[in-house]
Amino acid sequence: SDAGSQKERVVTEEEWLQKWEMGNIGFHKEQGHPLLQKYLDVLLNGRSGLRIFFPLCGKAVEMKWLADMGHSIVGVEISEQAVKEFFSEHSLPYCEEPVPEISGAKMFQSTSGNISLYCCSIYDLSSSIVGKFDGVWDRGALVAVNPRDRQRYASLVINLVEKNSSYLLVTVSYDPTKHKGPPFYVPESEIQSLFG
Ligand code: SAH
Repeated sequence: SDAGSQKERVVTEEEWLQKWEMGNIGFHKEQGHPLLQKYLDVLLNGRSGLRIFFPLCGKAVEMKWLADMGHSIVGVEISEQAVKEFFSEHSLPYCEEPVPEISGAKMFQSTSGNISLYCCSIYDLSSSIVGKFDGVWDRGALVAVNPRDRQRYASLVINLVEKNSSYLLVTVSYDPTKHKGPPFYVPESEIQSLFG
């Protein structure tokens, strides 16, 4: 298969916002992801009270699930609609505040304090703003990033994790000449070169 057929494709932030407005969000799943359940032990590695990062989080229900287990969750999502739907669909009260370091960005935090969702582009984040994480759940994130931005995305996320962290990555395998994506096809060899 030829991943080259997708490498010029660009989905703009505006297009993502439109998908949310139109309810064109087939990627969102009401049920927690079976691979997170299967590999939860790998993510936690015997630890409790972790800081777990959800890049390109949408309104992923796994954020609530891990928060209920006692972890603190930080997500980033460009769609404010998605962030608000997350809190309202789980009946979680939240507050909203500007992020001084990022112009136009807002941070939405559950009143209980354990779920913080940054509404901005992931490329605006840095460890000086969000700190470092013990774990990452990357589902619908690397595979949603425009192919030309993958290196930048991987370098950024690597910068946001502690030394002894675990990173669960879900990719999709299919013939990239048959679908334009997203989700994009990211070959195993590229994952090796991005993350080592
Ligand atoms: N991980 C989620 C959502 C996957 S879809 C899940 O598993 O359901 C990808 C999401 O990334 C969309 O909600 C889109 O609005 C968001 N997104 C796209 N580009 C982004 C960027 N540069 N920064 C932050 N969020 C982005």
